[in-house]
Amino acid sequence: MKQNLTPGNDAISQLAGEFNKLPGIGPKSAQRITYHLLRVPEEEARLLAEALLSLKQKVHLCTTCGNVTETDPCPICCNTMRDASQICIVEQPQDILALEHTGIYHGFYHVLHGAISPTDGVGASDIRIRELLGRLENGVIKEVILATNTNLEGEQTAMYLSQLITPLGIKVTRLARGLPFGTELEYADDVTLTRAIEGRQVF
Ligand SMILES: [Zn+2]
Repeated sequence: MKQNLTPGNDAISQLAGEFNKLPGIGPKSAQRITYHLLRVPEEEARLLAEALLSLKQKVHLCTTCGNVTETDPCPICCNTMRDASQICIVEQPQDILALEHTGIYHGFYHVLHGAISPTDGVGASDIRIRELLGRLENGVIKEVILATNTNLEGEQTAMYLSQLITPLGIKVTRLARGLPFGTELEYADDVTLTRAIEGRQVF
């Protein structure tokens, strides 16, 4: 668990406490950012505050794929130039960014918003699997590409989905093993990810 800053009611401790809750930001960084903001012009601090609020007000989930978007359906789901026969399953919206960055995949996506993890109490009904099955009913999708992370939860989820989807007569593939075990997709480099998509295998 993260070491929390000494609690205090003053504005500095409060803001530093909030930063300390963010991923990858420890107490020292939280303090550094807070003191940095104390020095910047008020206008700059206001822009940051507004950007934060606007993020929460404008960005929602695409009701089709679960990607984060300001329009619904999202721009990817609306793109008629994409290959409707392929759907790539990812755990988080950031994973779409990583895959889109490779420029090699032109099908659609489905974001699960998590992975099956019995130890954390996350079951199949807690992630967007029901929505996925609904999308597979139209008969247009010929290939489901499992691009969940290569850690234990990602592998368990891929296995579960494969057992669920293969009987529907849809080809199920998994990204190639070029990705080292334990890799979170969003941190994989373009070359590795491109090889993983190209070398995907029937799962
Ligand atoms: Zn979408």
